[in-house]
This record gives sequence, C-alpha cells and structure tokens, in this order.
Amino acid sequence: ELGQPEHSVITTCAYCGVGCGFKAEMKGNTVVRMVPWKDGKANEGHSCVKGRFAWGYATHKDRITQPMVRETITDAWREVSWPEAIDFAATRFKAIQARHGQDSVGGITSSRCTNEEVYLVQKLIRAAFHTNNVDTCARVCHSPTGYGMGQTFGTSAGTQTFKSVEEADVIMVIGANPTDAHPVFGSRMKKRLREGAKLIVVDPRRIDLVSSPHIRAQHHLALQPGTNVAVITAMAHVVVTEGLVNEAYVAERCDTPSFNAWREFVARPENSPEAFEPVTGVPASELRAAARLFAAGPNSAIYYGLGVTEHAQGSTMVIGICNLAMACGMVGREGVGVNPLRGQNNVQGSCDMGSFPHELPGYRHISDTTVRSTFEAAWGVEISPEPGLRIPNMFEAALAGSFKGLYCVGEDIVQSDPNTQHVAAALSAMECIVVQDIFLNETAKYAHVLLPGSSFLEKDGTFTNAERRISRVRQVMPPLSGVGDWEATAMLSTALGYPMHYTHPEEIMREIAALTPSFAGVTYEKIDRFGSVQWPCNETTAEAGTSLMHVEKFVRGKGRFFNTQYVPSDEKVNSRYPLLLTTGRILSQYNVGAQTRRTPNNQWHDEDRLEIHPHDAEERGIADGDWVGVASRAGQTVLRAQISDRMQPGVVYTTFHFPESGANVITTDSSDWATNCPEYKVTAVQVTQV
Ligand code: SF4
Repeated sequence: ELGQPEHSVITTCAYCGVGCGFKAEMKGNTVVRMVPWKDGKANEGHSCVKGRFAWGYATHKDRITQPMVRETITDAWREVSWPEAIDFAATRFKAIQARHGQDSVGGITSSRCTNEEVYLVQKLIRAAFHTNNVDTCARVCHSPTGYGMGQTFGTSAGTQTFKSVEEADVIMVIGANPTDAHPVFGSRMKKRLREGAKLIVVDPRRIDLVSSPHIRAQHHLALQPGTNVAVITAMAHVVVTEGLVNEAYVAERCDTPSFNAWREFVARPENSPEAFEPVTGVPASELRAAARLFAAGPNSAIYYGLGVTEHAQGSTMVIGICNLAMACGMVGREGVGVNPLRGQNNVQGSCDMGSFPHELPGYRHISDTTVRSTFEAAWGVEISPEPGLRIPNMFEAALAGSFKGLYCVGEDIVQSDPNTQHVAAALSAMECIVVQDIFLNETAKYAHVLLPGSSFLEKDGTFTNAERRISRVRQVMPPLSGVGDWEATAMLSTALGYPMHYTHPEEIMREIAALTPSFAGVTYEKIDRFGSVQWPCNETTAEAGTSLMHVEKFVRGKGRFFNTQYVPSDEKVNSRYPLLLTTGRILSQYNVGAQTRRTPNNQWHDEDRLEIHPHDAEERGIADGDWVGVASRAGQTVLRAQISDRMQPGVVYTTFHFPESGANVITTDSSDWATNCPEYKVTAVQVTQV
C-alpha cells in the first residue's frame, strides 16, 4: 500500500514521441502514481496506458544496480565497483585501439537517452575514441526522415505542432498506426476526424483508423508491402497531369529546375496509377480519388511512421511525401505539413544531437571544415573529417575482423536490429562490448562490461518530441546504482584520457546550445518558464519557440524536388516464401518490451502474435490460437496465430515486443539505399502448422 502522495515532480513520459507531460506524485522517494500534466502542451492533460501505468519497471527486481565485468562472454558476471568497471572498460578499449587502430571501436546511443546523454556519448566517441564511429537507434527507424527531409526542406523535423491537426481538412496517414503507437496524438487526430476532416490511410493493414466509431476513411489505399514509392509517385502523377499543382506556391517557394524535372518525370505514363495498379494492388480509381482529395485540401496534412521509413526505398518515400506536399502547397501554415511520428520519446533529440556518424550536432556534415573547427576549438581535439561507420557497417567490420570494441548505451541491438543471427555473430567477434542499460538485456549476453543505466525517473535532462518540443525530464528519485547515465559516460571518457567534469546536465545543455544553431537559446530556465519550447527558439526566430517551420521559405531556401523512381524490393514472394510479413506495435507494449513487459501492461498483451488473413489460414489448416512456424530467408520462429480480416490475403503481421518470439530472427539484412535503415516492413515468409 503506497498511501497518499506528499509531493509531486513534473517530468516527461519516456515512451513514445508524443512526449506527454506527467506529474509524478510521490511519497518520499517512491512514486505513488503518474498523473498526466494538464499544462503539458503535447498532451493537454491526456495520457495513454503506457505513460500512465507502465512505470513500475523503474524499480523492478530485474534492475541492474551494480556494475559487472567478465573476461569472456562465457564467464560468469562478477560484480565490481564503478571505478573498477570503468577502468576495466577503458583499459580494454585502449588496448584494442593500440592493436587495431583508432577506428576499431565505436559506440551506439539511443533515443531512450536524454539530449544531454546523447550529446555526451557522441562527444566521447569523437573526442576520447578519436573516431566518428557513432550511431544511434534512429538508424533503424527514422534515418530516412533525416535524409529525405534534409534534402527537400533543408532540415529533419516535423513541420507542425500536434495542435495543428485541429485545422486540417484532409489528413493522410501513411505507414503509421497512431491509435497504438502514438495514442494521445491519435486521439487528437480522431477528434478532428469526428469533426469532419477527411481521411486517407495508406497501409497494407486495415488499421483501427480506417473504420472506428464515427470515423471512416474516405480512402484506404491497402497497398502491397514495399510499394510505397509507387503509390506516392502515382499520386504525384495525378496531381501533375490533372492540373492540381499549386503553381503559385511552387513558383514562389520551390526550386524551378528540380520541379520541372520532377513534373516531367511523374507525368510519364509508366508512373500513372493504372500502370502501378498491378504492382501496388491499389485500384487506380481509388488512388486517383485520394490524390484529388489531398490536392483539394484546402488544408491537407501528412502524418507518417515507420511504415514509410523502414523500407529499401525509405528515403525515396520520404522525399516523395515532401514532393507531394510542396507541389500541392501544403507546407508552411497551420493544418498542413509533413510530420514524422517518432516512435521513441527522443528520436528527434537523439538525431539533433549529432549521433549519426556523418553529422555533428545540428545536422552539420562532418566534412564541413568551419563546423568541425568550431567543435575542435570547443572540445580541444582534432575531429576526423571522414564519416564513421553506421551500425550495420560496424557489424560487417566486426565480422571482417577490423571492428573490435563497442560502447552501447540504452539500445538492445540483439533484439531490435534485423537478422538476429547476423548481429549475434558480429558481437561474438568483438573483444570488448560495454552495455549500459537498466536490465540485463539480450545484447548483454555478448558483453564484457555491464554499466547499470538509469530510468527516466532517476535523471535530469531534456527530451525532444516529434513536434520539436523540448521538455524537461526531472529527477524523481536518485539513480539506483548511485551513478546516472551521463555521469557514467563522463567517467568512461575521463578514464580514456579525455576528461569530462560536468556537474549537472544543465551545464551540458549550455554547451549544446552554444555549439548547435537549432538549439541556440535553449536553457533550462526558458523551458521552466514556458513549460516546454519548440526549437528553434532564439532571438532571431522566436524566443518562446517555433510552432511552424518553413513559413515564408524553406530552411534550405527553395524547396527542392527529387525524382522518385520506384524500385521493387529484393524481398520477393515465391513458392517457398509466398507471404509478405510486415511488423508493428500494439498499444500496451513498447518496442522490445524491456520496460512494459515488466509492468501490469503485460496482462493485456503477453505475447507476439502472427495476424493472418482467414483465407491464408484456412489454406494452411491454421485455426485461431494455433502455434505456427514462420520462416524467412534469414531464419525462423514460432508464434501463435491470430486470424484477422484486418490483413489482406498474402500479407501477415506481427509485433516485436517479446524476445521469446524474436520477430527479428526472421527479418532480413535488406536496407534503405541511402541510410541503411532496415527493411523491417517487407519480409517474404512461409507460415506452417507446427
Ligand atoms: Fe507516453 Fe506516448 Fe502514451 Fe503520451 S502517448 S503517455 S508520450 S506513450
């Protein structure tokens, strides 16, 4: 019995990219309950079952509270002091670099970390390891957003506030399921739909939004997995060939040569809805009607998720979305825009903080001498102009024998990255893996050092949500291990010979703001004063933050168009693998489930299931609830079948919340051409009775 709360602390949910504000009501150092913060601008007093109820993992018995080391991964773990663990890790990393060179080590950070923590990890990699081999878990979710929006608009960020949906007349949801993955924003969207906004859903699966109480999508483009680019290009074809381009907007706001080239490209007969219908499975008449509805607006907004990015053509699709929005004049005012719905709480922030191997904080390329010299002066080190290794390249280099050491913070790559067998083989080939996490996760099975991480309740810092809103994370209780995540990174850096002596995350934010133009003007004092701020928020933009991006001109100047040539996925069905598997999430669980599985939320959904269309099930003699084998070219697993007419024939679906089923055992190495974001959404499989 926890009793009545005595005091409360305002903080931010650590689950999805909505970034809801919460009041942690406390008795001493114990959380009694989490109450949605009515003044939180992202959620306005609302919450979902994850933020509201799934926080007990923070004090779960499985929490690691003592650092551990072992000589080899077959040895038993040995509990040691913090200094001993840090010394063990630093000594190994130094020895590896002495033997194999500076670039034989690297690090992976996470969207679960605060901005300040991500910034410090990438700083450690660049300044203490002297390499750019740093990457983030956004590699496997929204890296195509970074590329695509950067190319077309000039910066990688949602263009609107969540509130802006209230002024949308047409809402197009592509490859996202906000009801389950972004519930509070999903409710806001549904409210607008019930008020009469029109809805276009582009998704292979009949998600809840397509038909829920008082909501019916005008158009559900139930495409074949892997054909996004064909659909968006065909929509553009309709806009261009039916005279629906907003010519005045394009003439004023966009780059003319690239627009003309794009106009000519999409108008070709081979890009028509009719030509693509056999590929996409979307009736041409339906697609034409959807394109006309989008172009007519007057305010049409696009919201998209990982069903856009996690494809071999993820970056092309993001570009296609931006092309369409620009051509129809749907960027730069309320009720319109292009809005990536970020899966994790701090995807936006972790990308902003320079955690990609080719970018310093603020999306500035590592080869830019002026930018590099700014950081070199501030950090007192030389920074290599060469981009480092991305996560998949680290795995390849490990298997080739040139990558030997990894510092992995807050990311369970064994469960979350595709082709588990390949990841496990790569990790097994390394000589020193340091995992910093709150639990002994799947990746820790391959680790030599385990540094106890902290939950969001134990830390101070900031998260940046999907609408660029920077909110404070405030410490509710002390770190269970006695050392916070940023402190552990600073200790490791110091032991590696690059001292870091910060006293508080606020000091780290001051450094970030001084070195990162998009974060200029961000201070804890300002966040406290306004409750939260959307970047940019400096004197030359808007001190209190910027709700709308690209209002008078795009960040890059003129918006730029790119041709989006559809290329079929390598994952093709055949007689051996006749079905296409796609993956996603469910409301009560979150990503690899490390947190939610250790809370009462598990009672609502305690296993991953394979959703399969009744015809496909019948053909295989599969009944609802049967255990079935799912095999792909990468591997095989066993799941319980859920017969569902939400699926179209030939397409199956599963979540990836449970290590026991390990959905990523069957996903393949196929990835986005520009960013290596894995093609989680398209895997050819066979499903059989077991
Ligand atoms: Fe947390 Fe997202 Fe739910 Fe809000 S909608 S409570 S941020 S999981």
